[in-house]
Amino acid sequence: MLPIYHILLPTPYPVGPVNIYLILSEPYTLIDAGPDTDEARAVLEKALAERDLSLSDLKRVVLTHAHSDHSGLADWLHRVSGARIFLHPFELAKLIRPQNFFDDRLAFLAETGCPLTAIQEMLAARDRLPHPRVSEDCAVTLRGGEELSFEEGVLQVFHLPGHAQGHLCLYDREGGHFFAGDFLLPHITPNPVAEFDPGQPGKRIKVLSFYLQGLERINGLEITTVWPGHGEAFSDHRRLIAAYRAHHESRLRYILELLRTRGELTVYQLTRLAFPDLKGFAIFLGLSEIQAHVDLLQDRGLVAARKQDKVLYYRAWD
Ligand SMILES: [Zn+2]
Ligand SMILES: [Zn+2]
Repeated sequence: MLPIYHILLPTPYPVGPVNIYLILSEPYTLIDAGPDTDEARAVLEKALAERDLSLSDLKRVVLTHAHSDHSGLADWLHRVSGARIFLHPFELAKLIRPQNFFDDRLAFLAETGCPLTAIQEMLAARDRLPHPRVSEDCAVTLRGGEELSFEEGVLQVFHLPGHAQGHLCLYDREGGHFFAGDFLLPHITPNPVAEFDPGQPGKRIKVLSFYLQGLERINGLEITTVWPGHGEAFSDHRRLIAAYRAHHESRLRYILELLRTRGELTVYQLTRLAFPDLKGFAIFLGLSEIQAHVDLLQDRGLVAARKQDKVLYYRAWD
């Protein structure tokens, strides 16, 4: 069984602090890196010192996904420790190129019918931290199915897309420990963040179907403790998975009902009806949430779409 050291790092984001986990067995491996802030760096160094460790003891850093609360310090950690960065190629692609979050998503925002004023509001509230970067030569890619060996055990790598297309989780079968990143969270349902096929720019990935399939896989595992990216560790993952499924099915019914009663609507209009109070960057997350559900309704043959002047309009099949 692998010894786990939990470290809580502050983040400047509404989600609150992020959990990272150090596996205290050779080769010492950190699961997630935390945000690129001086505060997070200081807390991490202090936490290591409390165990008579220093950054140079780190040999591997595994990133569950590229969101900046999880990946921001990865490049710095590599530079100060020499640790290699392990991650899914889809997430690596996000970290090796300079990214302007909204440039990549303008076509999507146009399709949702999002007005310019709301786009400006999101831009004004965008992340002030630099876009996290990782250099390709320090990266080791994992696609799921691999095993990371330690002196005292093994972590199995699971590729579980839906919150991020290259999201990885790690499973210590012997100890029943599951490192969930943002795939399973105790108090919030992970956002199915809109993502696009890198091979076909502008083509949306069916993130919610992937996510629900992933839940199915995890439901079958024997897990005693889930170590999430945010919030407290918990047991009974099957109860949480059942609650997630019920949440998504109820949201699907709600959206279908809106389309049945109000007629044709854009994703932006649906988002405003479902979440009237969203502000700033949360508007983007709201649009992602609704778009993911509308895509699934369309896959199930319950909703039809038509495109006019770059905007997608959805209606319920009679
Ligand atoms: Zn995330
Ligand atoms: Zn997160």
